[in-house]
Amino acid sequence: MASGNRVDLSGNPVKPITICMIGAGGFIGSHLCEKLMAETPHKVLALDVYNDKIKHLLEPDTLPWADRIQFHRLNIKNDSRLESLIRMADLTINLAAICTPADYNTRPLDTIYSNFIDAIPVVKYCSGNSKRLIHFSTCEVYGKTIGSFLPKDSPLRQDPSYYVLSEDTSPCIFGSIEKQRWSYACAKQLIERLIYAEGAENGLDFTIVRPFNWIGPRMDFIPGIDGPSEGVPRVLACFSNNLLRREPLKLVDGGQSQRTFVYIKDAIEAVLLMIENPSRSNGQIFNVGNPNNEVTVKQLAEMMTEVYAKVSGEPSLQTPTIDISSEEFYGVGYDDSDKRIPDMTIINRQLGWNPKTSLWDLLESTLTYQHRTYAEAIKQATAKPAAS
Ligand code: NAD
Ligand code: UDP
Repeated sequence: MASGNRVDLSGNPVKPITICMIGAGGFIGSHLCEKLMAETPHKVLALDVYNDKIKHLLEPDTLPWADRIQFHRLNIKNDSRLESLIRMADLTINLAAICTPADYNTRPLDTIYSNFIDAIPVVKYCSGNSKRLIHFSTCEVYGKTIGSFLPKDSPLRQDPSYYVLSEDTSPCIFGSIEKQRWSYACAKQLIERLIYAEGAENGLDFTIVRPFNWIGPRMDFIPGIDGPSEGVPRVLACFSNNLLRREPLKLVDGGQSQRTFVYIKDAIEAVLLMIENPSRSNGQIFNVGNPNNEVTVKQLAEMMTEVYAKVSGEPSLQTPTIDISSEEFYGVGYDDSDKRIPDMTIINRQLGWNPKTSLWDLLESTLTYQHRTYAEAIKQATAKPAAS
C-alpha cells in the first residue's frame, strides 16, 4: 500500500511529489509506475504514445491510486503540452527513446533524432523552469572496452582496469562512422554532455542513469504477437520468441559478446532511491547494473533454454542454438560492445544500492511470465487452418 510515512536515506520525511514521466508506457516506465503507485504517495503524469503496458494501472478508475496517475497520450516531438506538463511537476523523468539495436544501423536518423534532438526541449524546459531532471542514458555510452584493443592473448585483458566501466574515469570508445550501430551511443553521449553543461552553466539539478541490460517481464514485444512479425527486439525477447516457437536461438557472430543482466525490480529500487534522495543524486551519473550476473550471449542462450524447459515442462530442442553473422541478422553497419561490467562505487557510496537477484532467478520469473503470457497466443498463431 502507498505509504505517506516514507523517509529518505538521512532519516528525513519524504514529501509527496508530482513526477512528469516521459516514456511511461515502455518497459522501464511501466515498472516504475507500478512501484510508485503501490509503495509511495507520489503522483505521476504519465506521457507516452502508447499505454498498453500500464493499462492495468489506469483502469478501472476505482483502483486505489486512480487519483495519483494520469495518462497523457502525446509525442514529445510535436506537442505543445510538453512544457506545461513539466511545469506542473516537481521532477521530470525522461525515458523516451528508440533503444533497440536493430534500429541503430537501419534507422540511424530516427535514432539520433529520438535520443538527442527530441530530448533537447525536455532539458531546456527543466532548466528554464528550475525543475529537477532524471534522464535515462545508457551503458552503451562506454562503447567498447580498452581491453578489446589489446592482443587476444594479452594478460592485461584479465586486469579489471582494462574493462570495468566507471562513470568518472572510463572513456567512451565508439567505432567508425560507417558503423552506424554507434548512432545511438553517440546521441546519448551528446545529450549527457548537454545536460551536464546545463548543470554546470545554468544550475540544472540533474541525475543521469546508465542502465546495464535491465531485463524482466514486459520487455519489448514478441514478433507477430504484440509487435511486428519482422521486428527485431532486444535479446531477451528474441530468445523468448525462439523458445516459445520451438526454434533454435540465434547467436550473433557466435554469441561471444559479454553482458551483465540486472532484474528490472532490483533496478527500479535504485531509481526510487534517486527520486527520494535528490541531495545524494543531483549532479550524479549512475551506472545501474549487476556485475555478478555476467555471461556471454551463448551462455545466456544455454541458461534460458534450461530455465524455459523447467518452467514450460517442454523438452529442449536437440539443436538449441545456431550461429548467424551480424550482417545477416542486423544488416550492414552493426558493431558490438564486447563486455559490460559496471563499476558500482558511485551508486554504492551515494545511495547504498546493491542488486539482489541472480541471473537464474530473474530468468525463472521472467520466462514464467513469458510462457504464461504468450504460449497460448503463439500456439493459436502457428496452428494450421483446418482442412476444409
Ligand atoms: P522502451 O522502448 O520500452 O520505452 C521507451 C518508451 O518511450 C516507449 O513506450 C515509447 O513509446 C516512448 N517514446 C519514444 N519516443 C517517444 C516520443 N517521441 N514521445 C512520447 N513517447 C515516446 O524502452 P525501455 O527499455 O523502457 O528504456 C527506457 C530508457 O532507458 C531509454 O531511454 C533507453 O535508452 C534507456 N535504456 C534502457 C536499457 C534497458 O536495459 N532496458 C538499457 C540502456 C538504456
Ligand atoms: N543477440 C543475439 N541474438 C539475438 C539477439 C541479440 O546473439 O537474437 C546479441 C547481440 O548481438 C548482442 C547481445 O545479444 O551481442 C545483446 O543484445 P541486445 O539487443 O539485448 O542489446 P545490447 O546489449 O547490445 O544493447
